[in-house]
Formats: sequence, structure tokens, C-alpha cells
Amino acid sequence: MTTQDFHPHVADAHDAARIMAPATTPLADALGAAIEAAKAAEEAYQGSEEGSPEETALKLVADQADDAVEAARTALAKSDEERTWQLTEEGEGYDTEKAGSAAEALDIARDNVDRDNYGYSNDQRTLYVDVRVNCEATGEEAEATVALEPDEPECGEREGHDWKSPWSVLGGLKENPGAWGHGGGVVVKEVCAHCGRYRVTDTWAQRRDTGVQGLTEVKYEDADETSSEWVASLAGDAE
Ligand SMILES: [Zn+2]
Repeated sequence: MTTQDFHPHVADAHDAARIMAPATTPLADALGAAIEAAKAAEEAYQGSEEGSPEETALKLVADQADDAVEAARTALAKSDEERTWQLTEEGEGYDTEKAGSAAEALDIARDNVDRDNYGYSNDQRTLYVDVRVNCEATGEEAEATVALEPDEPECGEREGHDWKSPWSVLGGLKENPGAWGHGGGVVVKEVCAHCGRYRVTDTWAQRRDTGVQGLTEVKYEDADETSSEWVASLAGDAE
């Protein structure tokens, strides 16, 4: 864990150089050098006598040095040169990684999401984990949401669930049982012919915390009297 010693802002060129090593990164090196130069120029300007011709000249030099820093920063951001990214999950920075772009860093952050870190409540709903990456050197950032689907509950039968759409259990339209329109999507309810559990897929789900809509969620519901009777009737038919 390097979270504790990772500064949220590049305070000085020393930090910048530490963050942007190693030497196989010419654009990061150039940025580090530009930051050093800008710091020196700023110091010279601050140290000059107020109202003197030197002050005017040194101000110009300092401004140009700042422009050079911005140019170096932009060049690094536009390149695929490896740079250091802070990885954040659910608002908490937890690690840094090298990557050549925000998309690449975001992939790492997505892959790092471990569902074992998140407890599931009894209602077996999809959980959403917000991940974010940012590069101090370039100021780039990107974010994404990782959906963690609930575990499918085990079926009573060895061969596993056999999801069906019987109208007698699910209702709805006879030609499309168990399906209902929901916002811009659809809710599809199915029932397992072995254990009577329900699987509900909602393609227009809404996050409870952020209100974002149009997400796909899967949840499971326990067998009830209707589905249990249906499963029993199937077993009766088979005999
Ligand atoms: Zn089942």
C-alpha cells in the first residue's frame, strides 16, 4: 500500500521527478525538467527587485517556463508513454499503477474490484462499485462503474436451474409470459422448473444511490406456493 505517501498534489519538482521515473519515459522526463526550470524561473522572478527592468524580463521568462510545463504536460497526456495513475475505488485511493492511457488505467481499476470486499444483503441485488483513475503528472482522469451481480442461488437439483417462462405461474402476455416493459427496457421474470426459484432480469434498473437509470440487474426470489405447485405438477406429469 502506497496510499499514505502518495501526495494528492505535486508539491514540487522533487515529487514530480519521483513520480515520473524511470528514464525510459522521455516525455515524463521532459515534463520533470520543465517543472524544474519553471520553479527556478519563478524563484528568480520572485527574488528580483520590484519595479526593476530585471523583474519585467524575469516575469516573461517565468511565464514562458509555465507555458513550457503545460506543453510538456499535454504532450505526455496525448502519448501512450507509461505514467503513474492513482487508483480509487468507492472514493478511496488504494494503489498506484503504471499505464499508457486513462483507458488502460481504468481497465486495471475495473479488474481490481473484488466482490469479496463487498457484503451482500439478503435481497440479492446487483451492487455498483465506482472506480476512478487520475494521473497527477498530466491531470487526466477517468471513471467507471463496475456492476457486481449477485451469486446465483444453488438449485435443489444436481443439473442446476432450468429457467422457464410458464404463463400459468408468471402471468403477463400469453405470447410473452413474464415480460413487462419498464422505462426504456424490460423486466423479464423466469422460474426454475427444478426448484421453483425466480430469476428477475431488469434492463431498466436504477441505482438506488445515484438514480442512474438504464442498468441491467439480475435478482433472485425464493420459490413461492404458485411456483412450488407448478414444479410439483411437472414432476407429476413426468411420472
Ligand atoms: Zn433451480
